[in-house]
Amino acid sequence: MGKWDSVIMVDWSAGNDRGPTPKADAIWATQAREGRAQRPVYLRNRQMAEDWIINAVAAERAQGRRVLLGFDFPFGYPKGFAEAVTGSADVFSLWDDIETRINDAPGANNRFDVAGGYNALFPGVGPFWGNGLKRDILDLPRKGTARRDHMMPERREAETRAKGAFPLWQMSGAGSVGGQALMGIAMLNRLRRLWADDVAIWPFETMTKGVGIVEIWPSLFVGDAPDGWIKDAWQVHEVARAVSALPDAQLDQMLNVEAPEEGWIFGLGHEALLQSDDPSPPPLSNDCFALPAGVSWTRVDEALDMLKARLGPVTTTETVALSAALGRITAAPIFASRSHPPKSNAAVDGYGFAGGVSEGAHTLPLVAGAAAAGHAADAVPAGSAIRILTGAQLPDGVDTIVLQEDVTLTAETVTFKGPIKPGANTRAAAEDIAENAQILPAGRKITPGDIAVCASTGVASLTVRKLLRVGVLSTGDELAEIGSEVGDDRIFDANRPMLLGLVAGLGFEAVDLGRAADSRVAVQSKLNDGASRCDVILTSGGASAGEEDHVSAVLTEGGAINMWRIAIKPGRPLALGMWQGVPVFGLPGNPVAAYVCTLVFGRPAMSLLAGAGWTPPEGQLRPAAFTKRKKPGRQEYFRARLNADGAVEIFKSEGSGRVSGISWADGLVALPHEEAEVQPGDLVTYIPWSGFGL
Ligand code: AMP
Ligand code: MG
Repeated sequence: MGKWDSVIMVDWSAGNDRGPTPKADAIWATQAREGRAQRPVYLRNRQMAEDWIINAVAAERAQGRRVLLGFDFPFGYPKGFAEAVTGSADVFSLWDDIETRINDAPGANNRFDVAGGYNALFPGVGPFWGNGLKRDILDLPRKGTARRDHMMPERREAETRAKGAFPLWQMSGAGSVGGQALMGIAMLNRLRRLWADDVAIWPFETMTKGVGIVEIWPSLFVGDAPDGWIKDAWQVHEVARAVSALPDAQLDQMLNVEAPEEGWIFGLGHEALLQSDDPSPPPLSNDCFALPAGVSWTRVDEALDMLKARLGPVTTTETVALSAALGRITAAPIFASRSHPPKSNAAVDGYGFAGGVSEGAHTLPLVAGAAAAGHAADAVPAGSAIRILTGAQLPDGVDTIVLQEDVTLTAETVTFKGPIKPGANTRAAAEDIAENAQILPAGRKITPGDIAVCASTGVASLTVRKLLRVGVLSTGDELAEIGSEVGDDRIFDANRPMLLGLVAGLGFEAVDLGRAADSRVAVQSKLNDGASRCDVILTSGGASAGEEDHVSAVLTEGGAINMWRIAIKPGRPLALGMWQGVPVFGLPGNPVAAYVCTLVFGRPAMSLLAGAGWTPPEGQLRPAAFTKRKKPGRQEYFRARLNADGAVEIFKSEGSGRVSGISWADGLVALPHEEAEVQPGDLVTYIPWSGFGL
């Protein structure tokens, strides 16, 4: 059945419009690719949901991607129902019938009447029950116990196997699916017509089309939602993520079921494959960039404290081979699989024997052969010695070594001077690292040295955070792509390649989101693109409050922006906002300001989002090789580098459009918020690029 490129999971609902603010028991949908799920989308009513689904699928199909679409309601009824209603056991004649009967509008629908109408076709009372309305409905009992002689089985085969799944006949009450199925099937039947030859409904049709639609039941493998998540949103998110992470062959196997008219629950019997011990971190709240009321200018240190308090990891985890772990961030502490060294061995080249020796000369008989690294030797009798080389495992009967430089040899003996302490010149088993000892903490960016420790202790693979995907977008009508032919009325986009390099240099996945013209529509569409495939977005330009500042305007319209007027130079207001649940750093357009603001604010924030914790820059106190006087009221950063004497020079100009200075510099000098007067020789804080982790 081949590859499914994109997975969209929908938590359906039978109720009326739930209003503008995200709520439980509404419709939630999530899109995922290759084990990465986007933030769930809140859909307040079925009409909006249907539109959203149609658009989302169309966008994927336009890219040539195959879509596996899942809904959390049953697609078929217990055996015999379709035939009793339509005269045919074909599930799709039942779907047609349901669609003709259902009337649906955001504020009202006729699902209870439809259930009553179906009951009228059956003898006795039922099978549907659970009238949730005030008015009585002929043929639809309020209680399940009132039913009798309707002749329908209570459950589908799948429901007898899925513990806790609700029978389809129940139309109201927590957890019931009867209403959802009627409303959902009516919608699916429309999608079937719309997508015609491009869609297959599982498990009734073969899944060889561009769109495959499956029935899911998230409770099968998703547990309770963690703090900060609405249950429905979390469930679809986790299902989408888990399904999109499945290898194609496994997915094929799960889709391969025999289920004639009743349908089946995707994943039933394969729960373990979809159970996740790595639940997603809670989403960032939409007001995480809100500022206290009445604040006009925020100090740099206060702004940093706020970012630190409000942001947290957004990445999930994956297991990588040690060879691919450099620079990745550990998701959990790592423990030694074996001790290091695993056995005691020789620390030098020399002669090994048992016990120490006292002062004076000692002569020991030599046994034949030698112990070398990787070549164990036989036991050495008490009172004898053996030739031994660095790294050789100590043979039985050897615990002490005399250096080869300190001995005289004959063909049969070795002579040397005491005293020598027992254990001299050997490395004890586990003296470096004990088995099961913690070798790395969680949140550690893995260094070459860490790799050596893992390798030495038998750690072949590690659970690390997925790379933080950082989108970079430039905005401005004046910008042109480097390499293109343009007149002098345009400037080349310098920020985007610079920031992409900066992001990659910091160890994140840099995602090029291109350029947006100075228009709201252009900025919106680029942000949409970014939110669908990034964990955080950096934009440059258009972040102030002027009429051509479309980034701040668009984020403001989206309702989740705050202009952080930070008392920093260089850098005009920083627009921090959320776009579809993804944090956006609206950086100033001037390249120097964009660079400095990314290092000062973006870098530690991204480190937190990536799961590496808050990482303040590492500065050094150095004598100044310059004179400067600054007023109080803002923190100032200067492009700087060390001269031959180890003193700090600063760039000749403070102009924040002077891109040459970023290349000239090896770091920044930070002068504090307060008034400052620097004379040559005064100590100032110099932060080399390496102090920012570059
Ligand atoms: P803005 O913040 O959009 O008002 O831009 C401030 C200054 O930065 C203007 O002179 C822009 O032309 C310049 N600028 C904005 N974006 C870029 C970019 N990507 N590359 C180089 N310069 C830029
Ligand atoms: Mg601009």
